[in-house]
Amino acid sequence: MTSRLEQALEHLKSNGVRMTPQRNAILSYLLNTMSHPTADEIYKALSPRFPNMSVATVYNNLKVFIEAGLVREMTYGDQSSRFDADLSDHYHALCEECGKLVDFAYKPLDDLEKTAGELTGFKVKSHRLEVYGTCSDCASKAKA
Ligand code: ZN
Ligand code: MN
Repeated sequence: MTSRLEQALEHLKSNGVRMTPQRNAILSYLLNTMSHPTADEIYKALSPRFPNMSVATVYNNLKVFIEAGLVREMTYGDQSSRFDADLSDHYHALCEECGKLVDFAYKPLDDLEKTAGELTGFKVKSHRLEVYGTCSDCASKAKA
């Protein structure tokens, strides 16, 4: 049994990406978290182990992972991007109070892509869908 990290490392190696301890740590961190962190959050989590690492280094490494197809970036206008190493088909719910971003499974919306293609004449490649609201933690805090 090979772990997702081992698979990812093998994939990077075959793409000619040189591995460094920092790169390894960033990738492991992303594979082991469910929180969809920003680059700054990754930087803060790893800086005790890598005091010389800058947030720019984190960004550059994330770019490498994105180009290698190992990580997905989710942009939010002027706000920081969030990063997800889970590339399986899934959707997200975002708490507008605390910023928590949670996964949920739902059948892939192939019919939506098909209809969008028919109505717009686009060759539809992908779609992005998120739901917004208040997480249960924030809702119970508001009640208290
Ligand atoms: Zn919340
Ligand atoms: Mn996710």
